[in-house]
Amino acid sequence: MDLGLTGKVALVAAASKGLGRAVAEELAAEGAHLVLCARTDDTLQQTCAAIREASGGRVLGVAADVAKPADVARLVQAALAEFGRIDILVTNAGGPPAGTFEQHDAAAWEAATHLLLTSVVELTRAVLPGMKARGWGRILNITSIAVKQPVGGLLLSNSLRAAVTGMARTLANEVAAAGITVNNILPGYTRTERVEHLASAAATREGISEAEATARWTNEIPMRRLGEPREFAALAAFLCSERASYITGTSTAVDGGWLKGLY
Ligand code: NAP
Repeated sequence: MDLGLTGKVALVAAASKGLGRAVAEELAAEGAHLVLCARTDDTLQQTCAAIREASGGRVLGVAADVAKPADVARLVQAALAEFGRIDILVTNAGGPPAGTFEQHDAAAWEAATHLLLTSVVELTRAVLPGMKARGWGRILNITSIAVKQPVGGLLLSNSLRAAVTGMARTLANEVAAAGITVNNILPGYTRTERVEHLASAAATREGISEAEATARWTNEIPMRRLGEPREFAALAAFLCSERASYITGTSTAVDGGWLKGLY
């Protein structure tokens, strides 16, 4: 299937590692040009060089923290200076700290709101006028299975990703007639550095091995294994493509069957 991504310009946020990087690699393999960001410039530039070499496409890396509106503005300006347009926006950020309601003070809520919600609002605000003017756009938000089934101990993630989902569902209706789709993609437990870090933290906390900590998750997954980032990226690339032109307002999981409800 030709996804119709050749020559499109995609801004993928938080993309030096993990899910964001896998999405960037898949879009580049389909012929898209990329603008990627992450906070750590060294790792980001290494990722950009690797993707450039593998795909032969143009890849711009801009060190930026998506939780900071000024960084988002600078990122989008750099993208427009390089490519003149942004056709595809993939929003993403690092995960917020784990914890229960009583473990998070006002400052923790504020930081998580900037990281997970304001980042999506500001990135979207910056790209939308150009997409409307061209009558074509794809906005894809990386959220989590937690928006359909809250995950214990991840109070900030459960709450703020739900806010992103409500915003995206509403925006999808507002911009559909302008040729812009807005969708959310929901990772389940996927093998990235973040998940390895969570397994190692759980192991230390509970005096168990990392393998035992990981097994607790895999036992909840009908496929009995973690997902691979490239399995997630395949759906992401499709939702960003020309071929997904009649799909908007959706929240689709890539979770090996972890979500058990009828949705
Ligand atoms: P990861 O492997 O830790 O990668 C995170 C990437 O985001 C890195 O490139 C990191 O680079 C960048 N980043 C982090 N904070 C950023 C910020 N404020 N501004 C710009 N870039 C930032 O994480 P992942 O597993 O791919 O997870 C990505 C998102 O999906 C997270 O929000 C996570 O909570 C969510 N999620 C993941 C899973 C899973 O199983 N992997 C499941 C559900 C939800 P720098 O550190 O250099 O900035």
